[in-house]
Amino acid sequence: MPFYDLRCKDCGEEFNVRASIKERENKEIECPNCHSHELEAVFKSVNIISSSKSSDSGYSCTSGCCGGSCGF
Ligand SMILES: [Zn+2]
Repeated sequence: MPFYDLRCKDCGEEFNVRASIKERENKEIECPNCHSHELEAVFKSVNIISSSKSSDSGYSCTSGCCGGSCGF
């Protein structure tokens, strides 16, 4: 299961929780401080390990015309 950095919209509490995508979609995660379900995701750092390559910035050359420096 992935970890989520979440912030409570009601009290501002930030916390890290491990939950399934389904639990998050169904708002089954609650704030540990005030038990609100009004939570938003916080993107501080990458803590979900991606299977894509680390150079995948979205701007690298995909056709191989330049070895990755042309920006296409
Ligand atoms: Zn709260």
